[in-house]
Amino acid sequence: MVQIKTLIPLILIFSIIFEPSYSAPSCQCVAFRMDDVQDYWVDNAQIAIMHVFHKKHTSLTIGIIGNIFGDDPTLIQYIKNNIKNESSIEIANHGWNHENFTDFNKKQQSLLMEKTDKKLTKLFGIKPTVFLHLTA
Ligand SMILES: [Zn+2]
Repeated sequence: MVQIKTLIPLILIFSIIFEPSYSAPSCQCVAFRMDDVQDYWVDNAQIAIMHVFHKKHTSLTIGIIGNIFGDDPTLIQYIKNNIKNESSIEIANHGWNHENFTDFNKKQQSLLMEKTDKKLTKLFGIKPTVFLHLTA
């Protein structure tokens, strides 16, 4: 059984805060993301986190690393079930090999993103519309 305290560091939370100088009104919202989703890596924790969000009917964006994802049937089936039944989980492209995209030119970046997008589209029938860059 995974303790929630051990899961908290795995969840990267960022809030969207609009500065007063912006013309758009504040959404007073928070977006949750979980990066580095990959095969056989703390599977129980990855699934437990997604399950908590699913049970709370709260959206979670999961950043999948394309080249090390796709062979873990438990993880793939869990994600498939949840992106089809409800939209609480959104899949996002988190690079092909978790690379720092600022190290590549625009064409190279496009190729890396395309590889992950194609793989995720083939697995889930949904093309990611979100790209999650590395955090510091
Ligand atoms: Zn990452």
